[in-house]
Amino acid sequence: MPHPPRPARPLPPASSEPAPAGGRRRPGTRAVRALLPVSLAVLCALGPTSPAAAGDWSYEEMATVRAAALSEDPLYVGPLHAGDLAEQDAQALRARLARADVPVYVVLIGRDAGLDDYVADLARHSDADGHFFVVGRDGETLHGLHSGTGGASDREEDPARLTAEAVNADRGLIGAPLDERLGRAVDLVERGGPTGAPGWASVLTAAASVLVGVLLCAGAWRLVLRWARRPVRVAPLTEEVVRTVDRAQQDEYRERLAERLTGCGQRVASHTSGPGQVGAALEAYDAAAKVLDAADDMSDLVGAHVLLDMCDAALDGGPPPPHCFFDPRHHGGTAHVRWRAPASFDSVRVLACRACRKEVRAHRTPAAVPDSSGARPLPYYAVPPEESVWAATGYGTLGSGLPGRVMQGGHRGKRRGV
Ligand SMILES: [Zn+2]
Repeated sequence: MPHPPRPARPLPPASSEPAPAGGRRRPGTRAVRALLPVSLAVLCALGPTSPAAAGDWSYEEMATVRAAALSEDPLYVGPLHAGDLAEQDAQALRARLARADVPVYVVLIGRDAGLDDYVADLARHSDADGHFFVVGRDGETLHGLHSGTGGASDREEDPARLTAEAVNADRGLIGAPLDERLGRAVDLVERGGPTGAPGWASVLTAAASVLVGVLLCAGAWRLVLRWARRPVRVAPLTEEVVRTVDRAQQDEYRERLAERLTGCGQRVASHTSGPGQVGAALEAYDAAAKVLDAADDMSDLVGAHVLLDMCDAALDGGPPPPHCFFDPRHHGGTAHVRWRAPASFDSVRVLACRACRKEVRAHRTPAAVPDSSGARPLPYYAVPPEESVWAATGYGTLGSGLPGRVMQGGHRGKRRGV
């Protein structure tokens, strides 16, 4: 991981040629350039104090020589680094390496390319088992590998490599002296690796954690959605609850009808129109009062409702109102529609409101007033006509004379003894 060069220290030119031993490179000095290849080759072969790089030497050859030398001294300071690492700091670092819990070897050389290959060769040629670190010409960037690491795929998890990356990425070490950076590396390898330090392993671990978190959240979200979309299990109302609700609704309906009956009676009593109108209104009023007195289910209450409508219509001097066959309480533009009752082969023409006509045309049976007088509720028109005047007359929509039939024969026929 390249870092910008430290401004305090002038860098040598980007050449693979190292500077003269013991001093900084002086570009342009032709004599030095001419002597370098010979002197470097000799110095490399001589031992720890020789430059680590020469034009004819491959990384592997350099590593072979250097690995052998490191067995004697774990720190090699090449010529380019002589000025970067004061002698006392070098001694302190050397002492630190010597007392490290794990073997650590450090090579500072005057190269600036291929250093990962070099440290790999170095580790491979070493007889010792340990962590190898190489710092190149920039004097900052660490390249590390453990001697036990084999192939390239293993290098991704190599502790020395991860340690070097951690030190290189440590913002707290920006501008720090080289001995401090190397000391930090020794500390890390002693602890078993750059735990907690930024590095690819930690970055990958963090990314994996984030991914796992995202997957967990996605899974949880899917569970929430599945829960929200689950089939709603509606507990059926018990018959008792249904009866209670029906009874409450009927009681309220009955009260409204009773109030309306009172109003109709007052209107009839005070009416001054002709005897024909008053007679029809009075008959309808009497029939409504009779039904309301004896009503014990919704179909009877609706019958009283129809009779009161007839009473009002008679008082107003108009014809009987055109009720919907299926439920006289329906509103909205009644008209005739041909309808075939369920399980019946014959069709009949009935008056129906707009909504019920729509249902009939869609081949659905409109909801009708229920008759609860029998063992089980039925649509009122399904009750035998001799047992219900409502079924017999369709609440007056199938013929005239409903009030008279109620007054003469009652609204429930023989079954109830009315
Ligand atoms: Zn209707």
